[in-house]
Amino acid sequence: MGKQATIDRVEERRAELETLAGELWENPELGLQEEESAERIVHTLEDRGFRVETGVGGMPTAFVGEIGTGSPCVGILGEYDALPGLSQEVSAVREPVENGRPGHGCGHNLLGTAGVGAVLALAEAIEAGTLEGTLRFYGCPAEEQLVGKVYMARDGAFDDLDAALTWHPSDLTRPTRDRSLALDSIVYRFEGESAHAAASPEAGRSALDAVQLLNTGVEYLREHVPEAARVHYSIQDGGDAPNVVPPSASVWYYVRSPERSQVEAISDWLDDIAEGAAIMTQTEVSRQYLTGCYDYRPNGTITDVITKNLHEVEPVAFAEEDRSFAEALQASLDPGEIDSSLEKLTDEDRAAVDGHAVYANPVEATNAGEAGGGSTDVGDVSWITPTGQFRATTYPVGTPGHTWQAVAANGSFGVKGMVFAAKVLAASAYDLLADPQLLGEAAAEFARTGNDYECSVPGGIEPPFDVWEQ
Ligand SMILES: [Zn+2]
Repeated sequence: MGKQATIDRVEERRAELETLAGELWENPELGLQEEESAERIVHTLEDRGFRVETGVGGMPTAFVGEIGTGSPCVGILGEYDALPGLSQEVSAVREPVENGRPGHGCGHNLLGTAGVGAVLALAEAIEAGTLEGTLRFYGCPAEEQLVGKVYMARDGAFDDLDAALTWHPSDLTRPTRDRSLALDSIVYRFEGESAHAAASPEAGRSALDAVQLLNTGVEYLREHVPEAARVHYSIQDGGDAPNVVPPSASVWYYVRSPERSQVEAISDWLDDIAEGAAIMTQTEVSRQYLTGCYDYRPNGTITDVITKNLHEVEPVAFAEEDRSFAEALQASLDPGEIDSSLEKLTDEDRAAVDGHAVYANPVEATNAGEAGGGSTDVGDVSWITPTGQFRATTYPVGTPGHTWQAVAANGSFGVKGMVFAAKVLAASAYDLLADPQLLGEAAAEFARTGNDYECSVPGGIEPPFDVWEQ
């Protein structure tokens, strides 16, 4: 069963894949709570003869499905978690399905499903004996909290891979050659003494004061961190009433920078500031390290394979109704968002994309080699095995992720981009499994860039199941 026949197998499953993506979209579940989504995918793989291990990395919603045996071993990474508060109908105006409920604003309903589509097609080529080796689907929970792959990596889940592939829903189709920021996610909790804030304030010790002083200290820290570093926080608990001195308060920090070592240095300094804030307020501080991820390091060889397939697989032919819905969604965006998406493109790509509400043809990678604004736990995988990823069009040009417009698109015409992505994943994994020389080149490149990965989460720390209750 050749490569084209494998791609055709994805096409034959289009209806099945669109149904799966739709089911995940209609039942958006937050990170580490995505039980039904994970179960649905596990059953799909088991029905098809995959051996599935669940509970990977100590997380009930993490799993690895495997088919075939021996070397080489190629993995496709999938995600299926949603974002809080983004519930949205398939509508061009803000219209939650249910106020305050989660929504698939990052398109992980599509991300996971495309990986499933690819491995189901590739499984047939393995069973037919055309491809040799082991193929895996990694069910990675809680990407939005940068948790799933980190804890799976700590468990050694990616150690014996020869290559990993993934993709991400986006406003344009392109290979990913930019890097992401390494990150630490830490909660600081302060404990003080409650007292009547007017009658006996001298008896109180305010935990909220400590949070305020920590945050103020961080404003002075900012001057002395690398320019690309980002430090941001949200106050999880700031006390209950003005007339009660807050006996407890907590703040959740993200520290990001292009290099893992920079993140660690900033986090150490943050710990010192938190200690200082506790001393100044005569409160006690405790620190909960939730997770920490590496910067994403694209493997050039794997990304070249993906790029070739992005051009070879037939692009999505969006229908007139897709275009008009995309136009209506685009009209609700800040025009600055569309400009900033176009700005990053080459002159030629910009001229081709400009004026289209939705654009399927592949464009060149943007910001190659540069560290972008976000973080992903795919970073950890890229430090363990040669890794490549791409973006595929599932929402209108200029739509930022984590928006209601992205939810609406990912629940409608985005499924067409998902099927395209499944074909590109299948084609790229096919190339790698069929050509040991390509994997050899990827491994040589990986060895040159160094592979001194050490999971940032120490042993003994449990995955942060209470992250949404922080
Ligand atoms: Zn995402």
